[in-house]
Order: sequence, then C-alpha cells, then structure tokens
Amino acid sequence: MNTENLSDRLKAVVQYIPAGSRLADIGSDHAYLPCHAVQQGIVTFAVAGEVAEGPYRSAKKQVDEEGLSDNIFVRKGDGLDVISPGEVDCITIAGMGGTLIASILEKGKQKLPAVKRLILQPNIGAISIRKWLMEHDWKLVDEKILEEDGKIYEILAAEQGDPRSYYGESFEGGLLLGPILMSKQNDVFRKKWISERDNWERILIQLEKADENRETSKKKQELLEKIRIVEGVLKK
Ligand code: SAM
Repeated sequence: MNTENLSDRLKAVVQYIPAGSRLADIGSDHAYLPCHAVQQGIVTFAVAGEVAEGPYRSAKKQVDEEGLSDNIFVRKGDGLDVISPGEVDCITIAGMGGTLIASILEKGKQKLPAVKRLILQPNIGAISIRKWLMEHDWKLVDEKILEEDGKIYEILAAEQGDPRSYYGESFEGGLLLGPILMSKQNDVFRKKWISERDNWERILIQLEKADENRETSKKKQELLEKIRIVEGVLKK
C-alpha cells in the first residue's frame, strides 16, 4: 500500500471527509490517509498524529517524500493532544480497536466542539464507539461495512446532533450491529454476524461443559443475550 494505491478500507474512510475540511488523522502511522486526501485535492490542511516514535518517523518520512510538508503537519502525541481547540473540523481515527478509539475521544473531548465530522474505523468493538457517540450527542450520519483481504471492517461517520434519531425500535441491536448497517443488511454484514453468532454458540457449548460458577453463568447469559439480539436482526 502507498498514498496513491490506498487500501479499500482507508479509501472508504477518505470518502467520508467533506471537501475542504481541516483534517486530523489520529494514529496515522505512515500518514497514507492524509497524504492521499491532499493528493486527491480533498483537503489542503491536515495534522497527522502519532503516539509512537516509529510510526511518527514513518509518517514524517512519507510526508517529506511526497513533498507535502506544507500541507501535512506530523505531530507526536497521545490522541487529540496533537491538535488545539478549533484547529480542525474533521477527525479520522482508523485501524484501532473500538475501545481505544472511544477512549481517545473521551480523553480529548474538550477539542471536539469545533469538529463537524468524526470518521471512525474500528477493527473490532464498534459498539464502544456507538455508545460513546450516543452519550456525547454525536449522531451517526452513515455506516459502512466492507471486507478486504479476508477481514471485515466497519466505518462510522458521525456529526454533532441527536444520536437517537437513527436507532428506532431495536436500540440494543443498533448499538451492537449498527443502526444503518442493520437497515441495509448487505452480504458482508450478514457474513460477519452469522460468523459471530456461530462463534458465540461454540463458546456456549464449551461453557456448558465447564463447572458452573457465577462467572461462567454470567458469561453464558451475556452470550445468550447477544445471540438473541443478532438472531432477531438477521431474521428481518
Ligand atoms: N490509521 C492507520 C490505518 O488505519 O492504517 C494506522 C493504524 S495502526 C494499526 C494504529 C496506529 O495508531 C499505530 O501507529 C499506533 O501507534 C497509533 N496509536 C495508538 N494509540 C494512539 C494514541 N492514543 N494516539 C495516537 N496514536 C495512537
């Protein structure tokens, strides 16, 4: 992968960046995403944030080699620490777990009032992000699910506003599976949740064989609840 030949996953994230945004890409690694967004003429200003030394150096090297150092500012720091309030109006955070993405948003929330759009691509645990968005008055404006190289990725685009508008009747299902993805139910969505359900059923069988204690019975209840939610959605 490079800045011209971006992965389908990152291309899908870029598609949600409004033209002319002032962008921050947090956890940018090689800074492929902001380089691509500038090269495509989507943005002219971007911050590439990285917490780790190696990826920070890779990002700097990439931006220099692409001749984009007047447009992309590579900064080392934790989460949203790398931006000042009002500096950007669009933030991308891709390729991490949902819990980490939600914790970056929580820790940096004083930087968010001027941000119009968040584009978040969790590798796992999108539910943690949907819960955070719900609790902090960000509404989902779109969701996408795609498969690349045998892995399934979700992308959540959100803007400030009433988060409940998208959830309708199936609130629990919406948090776990995504209210917009649920209403579309494409093939990748069905593949993901059939596989998750089958996996939970396998774990349940193992738990049935284990000695019953408070922990195993709690775990079983949680799995049964998730299976119930997923089956309710897949039936529709
Ligand atoms: N965003 C790129 C992508 O989607 O291909 C890179 C994803 S890479 C797997 C995750 C990157 O996030 C790593 O380079 C890691 O150092 C960085 N990261 C993890 N926690 C971070 C934090 N709290 N603040 C900034 N960067 C972070």
